[in-house]
Order: sequence, then C-alpha cells, then structure tokens
Amino acid sequence: MSPDSDFGLAALPLRPELVGEEPYGAPQLDVPVRLNVNENPYPPSDDVVHEMGRVVQRLAREVNRYPDREATELRTALAGYLGFGLTAANIWVANGSNEVMTHLMGAFGGPGRRVLSFSPTYSMYPEYARNTHTDYVTRPRDADFRVSTALVLEAIAETEADVVVITTPNNPTGTTTPVQVIDEICAATRAIVVVDEAYQEFTAVPEDSAIALLPKYPRLVVTRTMSKAFAFAGGRLGYLVANPAVVDACRIVRLPYHLSAQSQALALVALRHSTQMLARVESLRDGLQRLQHDLRRRGYEVVPSDANFCLFGRFADRHAVFSALLDRGVLVRETGPAGFLRVSAGTPDELAAFLTALDDVRPPIQELPT
Ligand code: PMP
Repeated sequence: MSPDSDFGLAALPLRPELVGEEPYGAPQLDVPVRLNVNENPYPPSDDVVHEMGRVVQRLAREVNRYPDREATELRTALAGYLGFGLTAANIWVANGSNEVMTHLMGAFGGPGRRVLSFSPTYSMYPEYARNTHTDYVTRPRDADFRVSTALVLEAIAETEADVVVITTPNNPTGTTTPVQVIDEICAATRAIVVVDEAYQEFTAVPEDSAIALLPKYPRLVVTRTMSKAFAFAGGRLGYLVANPAVVDACRIVRLPYHLSAQSQALALVALRHSTQMLARVESLRDGLQRLQHDLRRRGYEVVPSDANFCLFGRFADRHAVFSALLDRGVLVRETGPAGFLRVSAGTPDELAAFLTALDDVRPPIQELPT
C-alpha cells in the first residue's frame, strides 16, 4: 500500500467530536499587503537581528541538552518588564498565549467543567475547550460589543461556569472592559477569571491593566503575548500573570521542556530591547485611529477599537468584498458579526494601499434597519 493511498481521515477512529472539524487558521497568502492577523508589521532592527543570530549560534553548541524546563531567566525578565512588583513566581510562559490558554483549560477545565466567553470573541476559545474536553458556553456582548459587571455575573450564575474568559481589548471588536468591571466580577465569583490582554499595549492607557488586581484575587489570571505589540509573533511567546498557585497548576499539565531553548533565548533578546521592539506601537495605534476616521468618512460603519485592528462594514456580501480586496493584493480577515470585515493596523503605506483598493472596489453598504 502506498503512503498516499485512498486511506483518509474518514477511515480513522477519530474522536467523535472532531469528525468534520477543520483545522483553525487564517489564510497564509503571499500577497503584498497582509492585514489579517493583527501582527506588528515592522521587523526588528539590524542590531536586534544580529544579536538574535549570535544567541542562536551559541545555543547550537548545547542543542544536545534539554532547555531550562522552568524558563526562569525569561520569567524573571518578563516580571521585570511588567513591573507591578511581580516576580518570576507570578509568571508562566509557553508557545504563544494559545498554549498558555490550553494549560489553563487543562488545569481548570476538563470533563464536567464549563468555560464561558462573551461573543463575538476570539475564535480559538472553543477549540481550547474542545481539546481539553471542557464544555464551552458563550453569551452575547451588549449592542456595543461590551460587557458590564451585571451581564457577566448573570451569565456566570446562569451557566455555572468554572472558568470565565474576558478579552480586553476584545478580538475581533477592539472593545475594552474597564479594570473596575473586572474588579467587581472577581469580587463576586469563585470561578477562575481569565483576562486575555493580548492587545493591551495598544490601548490608550496600557498601564491600566487587570494585573493591578492580582494581589486581591488569587483566582484571577491575566494572559499576555509577545506576538502583537512586541513584534515577536514568529518567536511564539505567550505568558500569564497570576498568583504562584496558578503557575503551579500549569506546571502539572505542561509537556516537559515545552518551551525550546531558542524560543526562551530569542524572547530574552527581544525583552532586553523592549523599548525598540515596542517603538512602533504608538504610531500603529495612531494609524488605526486615523483609519477608523477615514473609513467612517467614506460612510462605512466602524466598531470603535482600542486595539491594532478594527471591524468595518456592513456589507451585504462580505465574502465578495474580501475577495475583491484580495484580487487587489490586500488580505483582510473575514471574521466577526455578519457583514463586517476586520483589518489590522499596517504601515502607513499598507493602510493607504488598503484604502485605495477599497475605494476601487466600492462595495455596496448594507442598509441598516431604522
Ligand atoms: N488572544 C487573542 C485575543 C488573540 O487575538 C490571539 C491571537 N490572534 C491570541 C490570544 C493568541 O496569540 P498567540 O498565541 O500568538 O500569543
């Protein structure tokens, strides 16, 4: 039998809940303007590139050995970067905040447990739940795509959720949840509250973080990533900040040596140059704010965003608009509420190319009911 015979997925005894599932992932297309996965569009400076090269070369001499399982140096550096009086004991690291979330679900979800999120939100959450055999429930955000204390607490009571995920700024809407609201929620629940702050550095006041609440709430977990503002998506480095007991729980479910020596060392280089790595955040934020204005001026509906992406529409046929933009070399994301597309903050040239393409397409806007 040749390896590529007719034997396919359907012939395998796949877990029933995986039958018919598609692997998650935005299209990875080699087009001139890629504005679809909320990356920082600026590569690191030559200095940082050279330092990363030297570090990888040095590590190659000990690649026969396992990496530091505890990633202590990296966790210490992250604690220093964040401030708030944190130490390495408060930090957990993994291959992207995706893996951090999987650790959290593995530790606090599982059979008979339930995780709650507020839709529309990040489309990976149901997959983390599925993969860890956790029941997934979601409740709608309000008309402005926000959540209030009452909305969240009612949903927790109604669903008896064990883990609650609040994403701020929320993907794909870009809307935020004030720290005050998180405070009120944590004060009133015994659920594990995970605040996903993947885009926090892009907000108007990045220091205004749920991390400040950690001394009060040992069941609060704040997740972050170096993939977005930090311009390190390819390095795959996500982390959480929490009570040391939460870190201990993640240790139980992680794979041994889950984070490669190279990932740890490259992230350390990036952190040593944090000012430089984050240098474009403000201009990306400004660019996105200007873009929202430009889109509104053209008559599009835009969800006010505090992140490095925004939803715009509404289109009767968003797929047609997505395809027409792609034909013009511009890749955006077909996600979020019906009729909307999501665009990420690119360089000024990329955003200009996006607007030129959109003007060229001139998609019909859906009439809203009055
Ligand atoms: N949380 C949110 C809200 C995201 O949008 C993303 C990436 N799109 C992630 C987590 C995961 O990012 P990463 O695994 O690259 O850290």
